[in-house]
Amino acid sequence: MIPVNEPLFSGNEKQYLDECIETGWVSSEGKFVTEFENKLANRVNRQHAIAVSNGSAALDIAIAALNIGPGDEVIVPTFTIISCVASIVRAGAKPVLVDCDEQTWNMDIEQLESAITNHTRAIMMVHIYGLPVDVDKVLTLADKHGLYVIEDAAEMLGQSYKNQPCGSFGDISTFSFYPNKLVTTGEGGMVLTNDAFLAERCRSLMNLCFQNNQRFVHEELGWNFRMSNLQAAVGLAQLENLDEAVSKKREIGSFYQELLANITRLKLPIHKTKYADNIYWVFGIVLDHSKTNLSAKQLMSQLAEKKIGTRPFFWPMHKQPVFNKQRMFINDTHPVAEYISTQGLYIPGGLAITRQQQEIVANVLIEMLA
Ligand SMILES: *Cc1c(COP(=O)(O)O)cnc(C)c1O
Repeated sequence: MIPVNEPLFSGNEKQYLDECIETGWVSSEGKFVTEFENKLANRVNRQHAIAVSNGSAALDIAIAALNIGPGDEVIVPTFTIISCVASIVRAGAKPVLVDCDEQTWNMDIEQLESAITNHTRAIMMVHIYGLPVDVDKVLTLADKHGLYVIEDAAEMLGQSYKNQPCGSFGDISTFSFYPNKLVTTGEGGMVLTNDAFLAERCRSLMNLCFQNNQRFVHEELGWNFRMSNLQAAVGLAQLENLDEAVSKKREIGSFYQELLANITRLKLPIHKTKYADNIYWVFGIVLDHSKTNLSAKQLMSQLAEKKIGTRPFFWPMHKQPVFNKQRMFINDTHPVAEYISTQGLYIPGGLAITRQQQEIVANVLIEMLA
C-alpha cells in the first residue's frame, strides 16, 4: 500500500521527547512550548505566537479574539475545510461564501468586493493545497472597507508570498500541525499576531480565561486548547528541518509534474504564479470533464484496488448537509468549487514518499488514463 501521506521524523524528535519524560515536564507548562512558539513566530515574522491543540481550535480562537459574533459577517471561500466555516458559525456570525479560482483553487479575489455588506467584519483567506492567495489584493480591499483579515496558513508553513512568509499576513494567522502538514506535532496548531492586545486575548481564551490575580474567577468563557510539552517537543524538532521539508515537497511536486505531463485527461496543479512557486502541500489532480466521463470517486476506487491511497478534494461548504439543514447557503451556487470537488483528488505525496513510489503511482495513472 502506498499511503496518501506518511510523516517524516528525521531530526531531534526522540531526543526532545526523552527530555520531557526524563524531566517530568509533559504539560503545557514545559519549556518546549515557549521555544516552539518563539521559533515559529521568528520564522514567519510575527511578534506573538500562541500554541494550541489543533488548527481548528486556532481558528475558533482567532474569531473569538476579534469579538466576531451575532450580526457579523465573515467572507470565506466555499472550497476549504469545514473548520473555517465552523468557527464562524459557532461564534453566531454569518459566513458569506465566495467561489474559487479554477487555476489556483484559492478564493476568487474578483468576487470579494461584491460580497461585502454593512455587516462584514472580516475576510478569512485560506491558502489552498500549495499556492498562496493573492494576498495584496485581499489586504488592500480589507483596508479600504475597514475589515479584519484572518489568514489560515495551515497548509502553507514554509511558503511565501512575494518573498514574505505565509502566516505573516492580516490581523491574525493560524497554522495546523496535523501529520500531513509541513511540520507536525501529531495534533497541534498555532495562532499568531503582531498585536499585543490580541495576543493576550488569544492566550486567555485558549486557557479557560483563568485570571492572574484570581485564578478561578472568570469574566469570560474560554476553552482548554493548550498544547502539551510533548507535542511542542516534536514540533520544535520538526521546525528545525522545515527547509528540508519544503525542498522535499517541491521535489515531489516537480517529479509528479514530469511523470504525469502527458496525461491529457488530467489537469495538473500550476507550478508557479507571479507571486509564488507551488509548495505542493498536496498534489491535486483534476479529471478534465471534457475528455473523460470518469469521476474522481471512480478513479479513487480504481486506485485503491491498486493499493494507492488518495483523498478527495474538499467538499464545498455550500453543499454541506450540516449547514443546509440549518437553511444556510440554500441558494448558493459556486460552479468552480462544485466542478473541482467532484473531479478532483490528491495522490500520495507525504514527506516520507520515495521516487520509486511516485513512479508506481504515475505508471498506474498512465495505465488508467492514457
Ligand atoms: C488542516 C487544516 C485545518 C485544520 O487543522 P486541524 O489541526 O486538523 O484542526 C484548518 N485549515 C486548513 C486550511 C487546513 O488544511
